[in-house]
Amino acid sequence: MPELPEVNNIINYLKNHEHLTTKTICKVDVLYDYTIEGSKDYFINALKNKRILDITQKGKYIIFHLSDDLVIVSHLRMEGKYFVKNEDVENTKHDLVIFHFTDNTKLVYNDTRKFGRMILLNEKNYLSVPPLSKVGPEPFENISIAYLKENYQTKNIALKQLLLDQSIISGIGNIYADEICFDTKLNPRTPGKFLSDDDLLNIVSSARKILTLAINFGGSTIKTYHIAEDKEGNYQSHLNVYNRENQPCKRCGYPLRKIFLNGRGTTFCPRCQVDKSLPFVLALTGPIASGKSSVNAYFVKQGFISLDLDNIVHEVYKDKTVQKEIKNIIPSLKIVEGNIDRLYLKQYLINHKAAKNDLENYLYEGLYNLVLKKLRKIGPGKKVVMDVPLLFKSHLDDFANKILLIQINPNIQRERLEKRSGNSDLYLKLNKSYFEQEDIKKADFVISNNSNLEDLYKELDNLNI
Ligand SMILES: [Zn+2]
Repeated sequence: MPELPEVNNIINYLKNHEHLTTKTICKVDVLYDYTIEGSKDYFINALKNKRILDITQKGKYIIFHLSDDLVIVSHLRMEGKYFVKNEDVENTKHDLVIFHFTDNTKLVYNDTRKFGRMILLNEKNYLSVPPLSKVGPEPFENISIAYLKENYQTKNIALKQLLLDQSIISGIGNIYADEICFDTKLNPRTPGKFLSDDDLLNIVSSARKILTLAINFGGSTIKTYHIAEDKEGNYQSHLNVYNRENQPCKRCGYPLRKIFLNGRGTTFCPRCQVDKSLPFVLALTGPIASGKSSVNAYFVKQGFISLDLDNIVHEVYKDKTVQKEIKNIIPSLKIVEGNIDRLYLKQYLINHKAAKNDLENYLYEGLYNLVLKKLRKIGPGKKVVMDVPLLFKSHLDDFANKILLIQINPNIQRERLEKRSGNSDLYLKLNKSYFEQEDIKKADFVISNNSNLEDLYKELDNLNI
């Protein structure tokens, strides 16, 4: 969907390249009635013999100013496009509105998705009636801190969603909202009420900087946006996060993540974009019997709050909806007195890889949301230590400010497991996927726990976390 920079380039092209502001309309054909809001007959009749005087913009809207105080307010939505063609060029399937000019050319509104709309209004009041009466200032306009505070800090809504709200600030869509969050180092999930005054000022100056650059590069051509029929934008190669899921963050190297916020795909760096509603989170990870609980205990002594993932997993398993979903994946599973037979589940999963994957993906989502809820409850300013065996697979690394990875020599690991349970095979088989070599790169600290507790704590002292 074209955002402010793309609309800006389209208007520039129509004015300066196609010289639309020298043209006079002699006839209008409306080939798809729904494109026109209000009376189609009025639209067609009123535009006869009107001259285009200027074309301006408000957010994502294009405004054609015509003689006799008429204005057409047009929104391209997903796929709307304007082309200027000679009269002898035939219409194509998705040409929905044709403005014929007296100089034997025509302006064609083309829209494969048919979502775009235009309305004929009056120059004297078009800004004070819908749709533009509901459109907030563009980032380039004078926006007071009081206005920002009122519209952001009073809301328990994700920053990304607030940036997309055209009634607060107009012109920012999915691409540039993600880019602004990256530039300001703010996690797009952060609720507005956790943003500081400085954050708000940064958001506006960042929006101005990014949108100006994007305008100068002709906008971003991701899917189908074109300035004109054969002219693409060039800003897409300068994007830092949008469309770069799993690629390394240009600032810190961590793989970028894509999540859905209010149904909109959102890409961000989980490590250098801070969610201000959350405490400082130290995530511990490592294979089974690597001593994560000893490390956890060390940090609790240092004043960290321990978030017990085992308990949270139990909570997820107790949820009735979750149980129903697990039964769908594994029909033979028994639920006794509201509890899932987890021993049966464990053994079943060893022999059923596909079911294991399905179940894990489903449970991770539930776990992710529950952990977020718990961390929000603890709130900013606190320190949390979280012991997560499957940190990267579960995407709980999204919440980690620092990651401490614990390594262990496989022989010592086996020895410890034998001591603990008498049989290490079952555990090692189940936990084989707990730890990938490439994950080491994602950790801020890596320690080896092959000796005794005293040595382990000494090593932790040296980390200075
Ligand atoms: Zn980063």
